[in-house]
Amino acid sequence: MQFRAKLVSWAEIEKWCRNIGKQVINSGFIPEAIIGLSRGGLVPARMLSDRLWIKDLYAVKTEHWGFTATKDGKAVLKRQGDPNINGKRVLVLDDITDTGESMKLAFDYIKSLSPAEIRTSTMLHITRSSFKPDFYSEEINEEKWAWFIFPWNVYEDLDNLIGRSMVVPSSASDIENILKDDYNISFADVDLPMLLNDLVDSGRLKLEKGKYSK
Ligand code: AMP
Repeated sequence: MQFRAKLVSWAEIEKWCRNIGKQVINSGFIPEAIIGLSRGGLVPARMLSDRLWIKDLYAVKTEHWGFTATKDGKAVLKRQGDPNINGKRVLVLDDITDTGESMKLAFDYIKSLSPAEIRTSTMLHITRSSFKPDFYSEEINEEKWAWFIFPWNVYEDLDNLIGRSMVVPSSASDIENILKDDYNISFADVDLPMLLNDLVDSGRLKLEKGKYSK
């Protein structure tokens, strides 16, 4: 096995975001604005904007991990116009704190915009992270580390994992077995042939005589 990867379902996303919403409400913190870290925190931020009845929703872009499970180097912030949060109570959302560098970088930047208060939250928090969010749904020990394939990143991640592991043209069930062996991925609830055909449509895979290749 190269490393573990886990396919995340929409039901898990809903459960984790609802859990964060509950924690925020129970804490007594009443956010006036939400910031999603782009791209992984965008969907959770939108879901919390609905759950907490907050229309003031912004995005801040950070980049750290390049291709699936490969770090790009240092986390970098991409400024795209500053959120208007001066004097406001702000809730920041991301999908996961892994090294924690992206959240730390975003936190320092957001703080420089003079909000009244900042709280941070992620759906998943790896214990080794140098940054601990105020609210998170699941804590994951370092030994349980996996690359989480979120529903909004499924094509990019599958494409990269297949690219690393597939050496000869392979059928859908061969690919399923290769990904199981190399990443311990379970495709029980996922229509892998449909996703593979979507990758063919996007020009990321070729399909000839029932076999996929790069
Ligand atoms: P980090 O700066 O290491 O805390 O992670 C920055 C971003 O990279 C996260 O917000 C995710 O979008 C992505 N990422 C990092 N680690 C993982 C992981 N184990 N599974 C899925 N995405 C990850």
